[in-house]
Amino acid sequence: MSPRSILHLDADAFYASVEQAADSRLRGKAIAVGGSTRGIVASASYEARAKGVKTPMPTSQALRLCPELILVPGDFEKYERFSQLMFAYAYDLTPEVEICSIDEGYLDLTSQRSGQPRESALRLALQIKKELKITISQGLASNKFCSAVASKMKKPNNFIEVPAGTEKEFLAPLPVRWLPGIGTKTEPRYLEAGITTIHQVASLSLPELERVAGSSAQDLHLFAQGIDSRPVTPASADPKSFGEQETFDTDQLDELFCLATLRAMIDRLCRKLRREGFAARTLSLRIRYRNMEDVMRSESLNEPSPLENDFYPLLQPLLRRSWSRPKPLRLVGVRLSNLHRALPDPELALTGLPQKSMTERLHLAEATDQLRRQFGSDAILRGHDLWLKKKLLTGEKSGDSHSSPSQK
Ligand SMILES: [Mg+2]
Repeated sequence: MSPRSILHLDADAFYASVEQAADSRLRGKAIAVGGSTRGIVASASYEARAKGVKTPMPTSQALRLCPELILVPGDFEKYERFSQLMFAYAYDLTPEVEICSIDEGYLDLTSQRSGQPRESALRLALQIKKELKITISQGLASNKFCSAVASKMKKPNNFIEVPAGTEKEFLAPLPVRWLPGIGTKTEPRYLEAGITTIHQVASLSLPELERVAGSSAQDLHLFAQGIDSRPVTPASADPKSFGEQETFDTDQLDELFCLATLRAMIDRLCRKLRREGFAARTLSLRIRYRNMEDVMRSESLNEPSPLENDFYPLLQPLLRRSWSRPKPLRLVGVRLSNLHRALPDPELALTGLPQKSMTERLHLAEATDQLRRQFGSDAILRGHDLWLKKKLLTGEKSGDSHSSPSQK
C-alpha cells in the first residue's frame, strides 16, 4: 500500500489573529483575547508572546510583562465565521476534511497525484493569508500524528513535510510530551524513569514501557515509531442538537420545581455531549402552557462548553423571560445546539482556551460520568436531584420524559 498524504493545519494564535485581521488598528500590536472578561489570557498575538505573554496566563501577570498589552474581549461568533471560511478553502481541495476544533483540522490528500499535496498545502496557506489575513502552520506526513506534530513544531506561518519512511527519525529527538496522552501531569513519570525523548520510548521493549505507561503502552510504542493508522474522518452525520422535554402530570406553577427539572435535563444532555465528544454553545428553553401555546427562548455562551455548570446560570433568567405568570406550565424542555467538536486537546493544543481550568473541570465531569456508568445514574446526585427526589416521594409526580437527538 502506498503511503497516505495527511495534512494537518493549525491556525496561528487564532483568536488574536482574527481580531487583528478584523481591525487594522490592532495589527502589529501586542494584544490578548479574553483577558478583560475572564481574568485569563485565552489567546495572545505574537507581538505579545515576544514579551513573554503566554496562554493561559492571568491577565495581571500578562500586564506586568507587557504594560502596553491591549485587552480584547472574545467574540466567538467572529471566530466561528473565520473558521468556516478557513475550512471552506480546505473543502475546495478535498471533501476528506476532519475538523478537530475551531482552528485545527486534518485533510486527506492521498488521492491527489504525486507532488501535488505539497503544492496544494502551500496554495491553501497563501489563499487563507490573502483572503482572511491570518496565517496557518501545516504539517504534511503519512499519518495524523506526524502531521500534527509537524504543524506545531515551528509556528507561525510554517510548513513542514515529513517524507514517507522518515517518520521515526523525525520524531526521535523530540521530548516525550509530544506523544499523545503525555501531558504536564504524566511527563514527570517518564522523566523520573530516565525517559526524555521519543527515541527512548521507541527503543524500549513493550513490557518495559508498560511499567511506565500502563495500558497505553502499546499505542504509545506505535506512535513513537511514527506508526499511526487512524483514518481522517470527515464529519457528516453529526447531530445538530441534543434535546429533552417533559410533560408534567399536573400543570406546574412552582418555579423551583421547574428549574430543578430543567437542571436534571441539562445534566443528562451534557453527559451525552461529553460521551460523543461535543461541546455546545446555545441553550434553548421551551415551555408550553395548558392551552398548548409554546414559547421558546435561547441564550448562548461565549464559548462552547460540555459542562452543565456553564449552562445552569442561563436557566433561571430564560425561564423568567419566557414565562408569563401566573399561567401554569404543562411542559418544559431544553435543547443544546450550536455543537462543536471543540473539546480542547490538552496534550497537543498549545494555544486557545484557558486549557488548565477547562481540562480539570472536564476531568472531574468525566470521572463522575464514569461513576454513573458503573454504579447507576443515582450514584452521584446534585442538589436539584435530591430536591426532585424528595418532591416525588412527597407525592408530586411528573410524567413522561423523552429525549431526542435531532438532525434539524
Ligand atoms: Mg492554533
